[in-house]
Amino acid sequence: MKDELNKVLLIYTGGTIGMGLNPQTSALEPLDFNHLVKSMPELAAIPVAIDVYQFPEPIDSSDMNPLLWRRIVEIIVGHYDRYDGFVILHGTDTMAFTASALSFMLENLTKPVILTGSQLPINQLRTDGKENLITSIEIAAAHNSDGTPRVPEVCIYFSGKLLRGNRSTKINSEGFNAFDSFNFPHLADAGVNIVYHDDVILHPDYAKPMTPHFAMDANVVVFTLFPGIQEQTVRHLLEAPHLRGIVMRSYGSGNAPQQPWLMQALSEATERGIVIINITQCAAGPVEMARYSGGFLLKNVGVISGYDGTVECAIAKLMHLLGHTTDIGVIREKMNQSLCGEITLLQ
Ligand code: ASP
Repeated sequence: MKDELNKVLLIYTGGTIGMGLNPQTSALEPLDFNHLVKSMPELAAIPVAIDVYQFPEPIDSSDMNPLLWRRIVEIIVGHYDRYDGFVILHGTDTMAFTASALSFMLENLTKPVILTGSQLPINQLRTDGKENLITSIEIAAAHNSDGTPRVPEVCIYFSGKLLRGNRSTKINSEGFNAFDSFNFPHLADAGVNIVYHDDVILHPDYAKPMTPHFAMDANVVVFTLFPGIQEQTVRHLLEAPHLRGIVMRSYGSGNAPQQPWLMQALSEATERGIVIINITQCAAGPVEMARYSGGFLLKNVGVISGYDGTVECAIAKLMHLLGHTTDIGVIREKMNQSLCGEITLLQ
């Protein structure tokens, strides 16, 4: 048992939580962290030693990109041994993408990395930011009786729910209940008490180091099937220069129109080495490509099941794998594995 306070590094990237109104345009824009601290005297009352690392230019998370993910990983790596956990203040718009990317970039993570933000800026009376931030810090500092962290995972904490980051999706642009993970249970629920669901929390190998990965290949795209989709549009997309990976949002349990031109175009693309991942347009439930003939045809032309993963996670996993190898066999194999709890493999 340690006597001193647990230490958490707060990484401020921007987002609504730290925004204020621009008097000229009346639109919200990111402000620096000092403004946020002034609106939140409660920070000093939390029984955790908190240090802050602020992005030189806080951003709206619509401007998030793989280089900034790399920056976040570098910050975590540079401070890893000195902190018990990390809280990342981030805009909600792309928070699920960042959480997914970090889950692959921080292999064998042995400390909590909790992303949070808010729907209303922290200086507004009805802000949801205070509870989100205070509880995230508490979770990032929480330990089991043997000294191991309570939640050694990349998570999103928002509005009472602690979610696995790579299972999360933004579900509401207005309500405080902005995130959920439809295909995976919550890791914890925060009401009067924080109730951790230990049976679903990942267990890293504490004997091994955390291994950071930095390379991400962004030559990927998400495309959504819809009734009436045109051959020339699909071909144009599949033939885009440098394209290496596609997340295809299919119907239901992984179905697609059975037109020969579509199967032919997809088959030519997979033969050229483009990796195509099948993710359902449904919010919940898995892709099961052998269930209907439309899905079965996709399987035959080399499309890979995305199981019950989210679009945000599939695109981040593709970028990560494509960033590390050109061996399509390896990518196919890893897409069919759960690397850090991102998909449920059927038994
Ligand atoms: N546009 C904001 C952002 O993602 C929205 C938010 O933070 O809730 O940075």
